[in-house]
Amino acid sequence: MEHVVIIGNGISGVTAARHIRKLSNKRITIVSAETDYFFSRTALMYVYMGHMKFEHTQPYENWFWEKNRIELKKGFVESIDYSSKKLSLSGGDQFTYDKLILAVGSKPNKFGWPGQNLKGVQGLYSKQDLDLMEENTSRHKVDRAVIVGGGLIGVEMAEMLHSRNISVSFFVREDRFWGNVLPLKEAAIVGRTLE
Ligand SMILES: Cc1cc2nc3c(=O)[nH]c(=O)nc-3n(C[C@H](O)[C@H](O)[C@H](O)COP(=O)(O)OP(=O)(O)OC[C@H]3O[C@@H](n4cnc5c(N)ncnc54)[C@H](O)[C@@H]3O)c2cc1C
Repeated sequence: MEHVVIIGNGISGVTAARHIRKLSNKRITIVSAETDYFFSRTALMYVYMGHMKFEHTQPYENWFWEKNRIELKKGFVESIDYSSKKLSLSGGDQFTYDKLILAVGSKPNKFGWPGQNLKGVQGLYSKQDLDLMEENTSRHKVDRAVIVGGGLIGVEMAEMLHSRNISVSFFVREDRFWGNVLPLKEAAIVGRTLE
């Protein structure tokens, strides 16, 4: 039976798996290093602010995967040999595929700034970043935070930190919030609210 392997258990990988299952009987495996189960990344901020528990961000019940014959493998894909169609996971496990889908998402951008890897400097993308933010702002007392990047994630982080009474300086390169996306009028409304 043809084996489809999907790297990434985010919305792209999971949507691909669901559609392939609807259309076929192929063997499907999703590999991800981040979490055991698919979760809604957009809800991470609500977990930090105490509106939801992490378990509540999972769009599907845990039985969904077995019922739909979608195998889940936790692991980080370190290398891919495209000629022999073989994946190697960190830790040494290897397995083969017939078709491979890369649904590997994104990561926070850094630009080689001095100090960018010091303790207390972080991005917000993954579940691990959320845990780190909790660690950086709760386990250690923090009064002030600086956010570099005036877009969607930056403003979410500002709200998250604000909810813990941490005062925020928000660095926005453009002349207005999310300047490369929002029209002037809308950006001005958000800007006024931010101020
Ligand atoms: C805080 C935050 C808030 C957001 N809010 C919104 C919003 O309100 N509205 C909106 O539309 N979008 C929002 N987004 C963007 C949205 O979440 C992403 O566009 C979406 O998650 C991308 O989905 P994806 O499946 O392509 O990738 P991802 O969700 O990034 O999934 C990729 C997965 O692949 C895994 N992976 C990568 N490389 C490997 C490897 N080598 N081995 C194993 N696993 C690997 C990653 O760990 C990850 O789990 C937000 C993003 C963030 C971070």
